[in-house]
Amino acid sequence: MTSQLPQTRPSSCCVCGSDDHALVLRTIDYLFHIPGEYSVVRCRNCGHRFLNPQPTPDSVHLCYPQNYGPHQTAASSVATSSESPVEDTAPVPWYLRYLPLRRIPGLRALYFWLTDDLGHPIPKLPENDQPKLLELGCSTGAWLLRAQQAGWCVTGVEPGDAPAQTARDAGLNVQTGLLSEVELETGTFDVAAAWMVLEHVYDPSETLRELAAALRPGGQLSFSVPNAGGIESALFRGSWYVWEPPRHLHFFSSRILKRLLREAGFTDIRIVHQRNALNLIGSLGILLKRIPLLKRLTAGIGERLIRYPESPRLWLQLLLSPLAIGLAFLRQGGRLTVTAVKPSTGSEAG
Ligand SMILES: [Zn+2]
Repeated sequence: MTSQLPQTRPSSCCVCGSDDHALVLRTIDYLFHIPGEYSVVRCRNCGHRFLNPQPTPDSVHLCYPQNYGPHQTAASSVATSSESPVEDTAPVPWYLRYLPLRRIPGLRALYFWLTDDLGHPIPKLPENDQPKLLELGCSTGAWLLRAQQAGWCVTGVEPGDAPAQTARDAGLNVQTGLLSEVELETGTFDVAAAWMVLEHVYDPSETLRELAAALRPGGQLSFSVPNAGGIESALFRGSWYVWEPPRHLHFFSSRILKRLLREAGFTDIRIVHQRNALNLIGSLGILLKRIPLLKRLTAGIGERLIRYPESPRLWLQLLLSPLAIGLAFLRQGGRLTVTAVKPSTGSEAG
């Protein structure tokens, strides 16, 4: 575990450039216990919420401990796991393989519908010969491998040395570094994806512009972020699982995302609320740890709930699916999946 305090520096609003902001809350790292207390602020000009001050580029590595969840699993094992099943690639669970359950009409389809959280879909292949897909922040390459198996020519960019090497060991074309540092053939990718990445970067506007530059005209951007504009953050406030300082630097609402995408030149913006209730479990865990009486009464349960979203059990996902689907239907999902299009040459951005 890391015990060094990351250096921090003040930051302006990445959306409008303003330095006028108000404190929303102060919190600590309940997930990986990086030392320090961190402030979430709200820009008084545009309403964007962000961490301020933020870790400096020199010390940002201290914010990602060796046991950081998304950097753990080997690409090949995640690609075949049933954790987030998708009908085309996931194995069928045992209870759908045996009688009499498998005879029930529609049960298999219902299972896949209930367990598909709409989190990181594999895009449909375009009609060109060598469809090109880029993933920013590909970690160990689990999603990239699934895309490759679906027929995409894949390229990954990952700033972490160890996860990038794991992805390369799995045979994937992955470069280590930031998007601005690696060599890519710009203007050629049919799809650029970034799953749960934008909240980690210093300047999301710049990242969106770099992704736009990588795409061919008419190419599609797909990404996901936590939803800071929904009921979860309002309900749990300081106990919201997704503040996750000092790794999360930005907390987006749909409104701010649309503004950033339009400014980066994207059109046809679609925002889907994921059917995922895992943030609620993590938030409940933090709540149990933050309130001294609850902490004493529930000894250790809070910590277990906080760790739960890293390796969720399928049965609990199925149990929570009505809640997750209901919240997504009401556009109150805790995570957003966004798609947008880089306009074809000659068409107007708008
Ligand atoms: Zn602002």
